[in-house]
Amino acid sequence: MAKIGINLSTGSLQQEEMIVGIDLGTTNSLVAIIHPESKKPVALKEHGTSSLVPSIVHFDAFGNPIVGEEAKHYLETEPENTIFSAKRLMGKNYNDLKANADFFTYKVIDDGTDNLVKVQVGDSFYSPIELSAFILKELKQRAEHILKTPVTKAVITVPAYFNDTQRQATRDAGKLAGLDVLRIVNEPTAASLAYGFGLDQSEEKTIALYDLGGGTFDVSILTISNGIFDVLSTNGDTYLGGDDFDQLIVKHWLNQLQLPYSVVEKDKHLSQVLRLKAEEAKKILSSQPYYKTADTSIVNQLSALMDKSASFDNDLLHLPISLEQFEALITPHLQKTIACCEAALSDAGIAKQEIDTVVMVGGSTRVPLVKKLVGAYFGKPVNDTVNPDEVVALGAAIQADILAGNNKDFLLLDITPLSLGIETMGGLMEVLIPRNSKIPARVGKSYTTYKPGQSGMRISVYQGERDLVKDNRLLATFNLTGIPAMPAGLPKVEVSFLLNADGILVVTAKELRSGIQQSIEVKPQSNLTDEAVEQMLQDSIIHAQADIEARAITEAKTEGEQLITATERVIEANQSIMTEAEIALTKEAIELLASAIKNATNKNDIRSRIEHLNDITRPLAEKIMDEAVRKAMTGKKILP
Ligand code: ADP
Ligand code: MG
Repeated sequence: MAKIGINLSTGSLQQEEMIVGIDLGTTNSLVAIIHPESKKPVALKEHGTSSLVPSIVHFDAFGNPIVGEEAKHYLETEPENTIFSAKRLMGKNYNDLKANADFFTYKVIDDGTDNLVKVQVGDSFYSPIELSAFILKELKQRAEHILKTPVTKAVITVPAYFNDTQRQATRDAGKLAGLDVLRIVNEPTAASLAYGFGLDQSEEKTIALYDLGGGTFDVSILTISNGIFDVLSTNGDTYLGGDDFDQLIVKHWLNQLQLPYSVVEKDKHLSQVLRLKAEEAKKILSSQPYYKTADTSIVNQLSALMDKSASFDNDLLHLPISLEQFEALITPHLQKTIACCEAALSDAGIAKQEIDTVVMVGGSTRVPLVKKLVGAYFGKPVNDTVNPDEVVALGAAIQADILAGNNKDFLLLDITPLSLGIETMGGLMEVLIPRNSKIPARVGKSYTTYKPGQSGMRISVYQGERDLVKDNRLLATFNLTGIPAMPAGLPKVEVSFLLNADGILVVTAKELRSGIQQSIEVKPQSNLTDEAVEQMLQDSIIHAQADIEARAITEAKTEGEQLITATERVIEANQSIMTEAEIALTKEAIELLASAIKNATNKNDIRSRIEHLNDITRPLAEKIMDEAVRKAMTGKKILP
């Protein structure tokens, strides 16, 4: 087994080895590296193919995942087992997604709670972490095939607005795919690095990054000084991108042909072909003024649909569209993105004249009108010399190279070599300060109680990369006592970690309603040798699969137990308004769930019974659920 040398003071790896940069995109994902000879960042691709891997997972009849271009072919024909945009689900609960439920053509489980979403395909349940892991595994395998060497370390990018949960979910996906995720980097930071901004320590710059992808639009305002990137503000529209342009083109063609949209909606194959033609047209129009297809099969197919008695221009069957027409279609969308830029500037407190550089990111910025409008708005030409599909991955590769210690000009600030976190229900490790975080660091999270009237809470602080605390290193434990009697879920306990410049960790727990508080000081790295740190990192990768499965079962069990307690309470309090049959049915579902919690060896056995119990109680629960308690528990984990 290869040994990794890690320099504890800088966190950099001592042995030269390949660390890849990964752009895990909503629409497309890709891998980049620093070329060992040219020392320039390059996106990895097989000879004669694209570097982009569509971020789509299709499950075949046997439930095997297929990722990428091949999966894309099933988008319309088998929507229920073809998962796109899994990134939108990362770290989300169902309530977060309600407003856009129609967007997903596959089954996103609605359990009416604040639990993290799952996707159901056949009898299996997948977390967004698992779905992203399938994509990352595919990227890892491709990279290994091209580089002819094992790839185990990566830097992965995320949108600047991703919160802790979403970043942790991305880390977990990497781990599950067998990757040691050395750092999570903001997409706009990576794009800036790809342009070489921030590499010169003396440089001071304010940058606007305009990122128009397949389904999302983000604008970020960044400042760079002393080699440190600060995101001043972000704005955007999470449902606006190149896919919308494709749809507008399809609608335009149907309008011209006077075919109602319902005709296409019914015919999945036709809608698939039209969408692909629209994307083709859009791309051609980025460099030519006019598009029409020579593909006779689509022409014949459309011709068969036309009303034979009516007269129409045969040329329309060739799906013509001019650049002018296309630009007129998308202009309202682009105006929206400009309004977002305005809002981002205003949030950052920056006038647009103060922006030194505007950088184009995302495949859709290849549309000339996009560059023209953005350039006109900021009053300066935009930077578009780096391939906009690859720019984020290329920047991630530069960051990876810096972490590998190859880029000697770049100084790393002190970083923590192992994650620091606390134990949550079921013996799970919850990371508050991920490894490779800059020191000093301060993080706080809210928790609540499990039992009614619970007066104390145990805070156990651990160091390590494993999912179960029993496999990590216990640093300290203390009790927060004297919490006044309250119903379960009502107390609000804030646990904060302050890791100061000397490497001392101060852990504080405070119950916010009563004000009671308790603190402890620990020295995380004391008496840990470099070898011990290496071993802990190795173990986390070796056991990733088992760890994440164990975590999924534990989470399902905790969720199941909470649901049983809540349901029993509901029955108890509402016997008068429930029929005997309803009560019997509910109790039976509770029994089934309880036995699954006791005996299950995989999470799906528990998940399907949680679903079953939820289905039975949903109509009733909706009426009588105590809103106050539900709200109080929103987004809060419970401590033992
Ligand atoms: P994401 O970051 O969301 O994963 P990308 O940056 O890969 O997305 O952008 C994908 C989008 O870019 C798609 O809608 C694709 O059709 C569009 N795109 C790619 N090339 C071109 C082009 N030449 N002209 C116009 N749009 C393009
Ligand atoms: Mg992107």
